[in-house]
Amino acid sequence: MSDVFADLVGQDEAVVELRRAATAAAAVLRAGAFDRAPALVTASAAEPASAPGGVDPSTGMTHAWIFTGPPGSGRSVAARAFAAALQCVHGTGCGECPGCHTTMGGTHADVRMVVPEGLSIGVGEMRALVLRAASTPSGGRWQVVIIEDADRLTEAAGNALLKAIEEPPPRTVFLLCAPSTHPDDISVTIRSRCRVVPLRQPPADAVAEVLVRRDGITPDVAQWAAAAAQGHVGRARRLARDPEARKRREAVLAVPRRLTGVGAAFDAASALIEAAEAEAEASVTEADTTERAALETALGAGGTGRGAAGAMRGAAGQLKELEKRQKSRATRAQRDALDRALVDLAGFYRDALTMALRAPVAPVHTDTAALAGAGAQKWDAEGSLRRLEAVLACRAAIEANVKPRIAVEAMMLALWKG
Ligand SMILES: [Zn+2]
Repeated sequence: MSDVFADLVGQDEAVVELRRAATAAAAVLRAGAFDRAPALVTASAAEPASAPGGVDPSTGMTHAWIFTGPPGSGRSVAARAFAAALQCVHGTGCGECPGCHTTMGGTHADVRMVVPEGLSIGVGEMRALVLRAASTPSGGRWQVVIIEDADRLTEAAGNALLKAIEEPPPRTVFLLCAPSTHPDDISVTIRSRCRVVPLRQPPADAVAEVLVRRDGITPDVAQWAAAAAQGHVGRARRLARDPEARKRREAVLAVPRRLTGVGAAFDAASALIEAAEAEAEASVTEADTTERAALETALGAGGTGRGAAGAMRGAAGQLKELEKRQKSRATRAQRDALDRALVDLAGFYRDALTMALRAPVAPVHTDTAALAGAGAQKWDAEGSLRRLEAVLACRAAIEANVKPRIAVEAMMLALWKG
């Protein structure tokens, strides 16, 4: 039997903490303490050791949590598993009961998941969410709000959330996911009100194990994909299963070989940008079409009655709003695709660097290890490091809103010149 935490790869410490908190939460519900006094402790940097009501903040349950870790480490997987454990009728996250099932399947009435599709989460969306989260849980346990990519909250949205976290309704739990607790990712005031669950980059062996066990992938392929994905579980699965994803990765790893001159550097930049655009388009087009059709149907498009024309005029605004949202999502998808390519490329130069230093570590990309070795000889440690830094600088520039094409062209030139 596998419980709700089974897919949280290589995160033993976090799982222990979450199990303990779920048990404490179940005890709180059993005690029925809510009618009398606030039974949960709100985490606060100022009062770490003890708290009223005898609940130890280091082991008990609290209203607001932040799951941090590198992309692919399983932040949202952890948040969802914890939500399931909170809704579990046994209070353990058994994986079998209706509470566990519906939460894991995304259909539990008291679990809301916010997945920002655009570049940021706006204040309107957050206010609506906070309002609904304050209602009494229909299942009698907890209202859980999971915010994926909480680092994409706008400042106003962050403030709306902060108010809710500062004075949480007795049965509401907020689970935030962010890359880190750096002030760039999450405001200091929100951070001070949350308990932090740090997740680490899962080791390749643990990722390979879950690919074999859960997805039925052969051990050889699983091992290769886990290493190539650099600890990103979802990416490892895609590489193992999707030939298109493998082809895109190969094209990216062919870049260092192709950089033979200025013209070639610009060509490589174009190719990389266009590949990211194509990948993003494939991922969002279907969703766009479905959404638009659904909205048009809801608005009565295709109607021929007297009211239909008037209704369509009013609907134009809603369609425009949808198009805006879809455009923002497409931009995000392109950036994500480009970022994945840059991470692959960084892995290649990292391999060259470790080889130049003769460091006893396994290469990220076993299939281009020979090429990285040749690079190591030619560039030495210093040249390899400079190239690795050029890739990382490109990622940082795009994150800081430099136009992707310009950032990638600058990077390609730096990679070529060394
Ligand atoms: Zn259960």
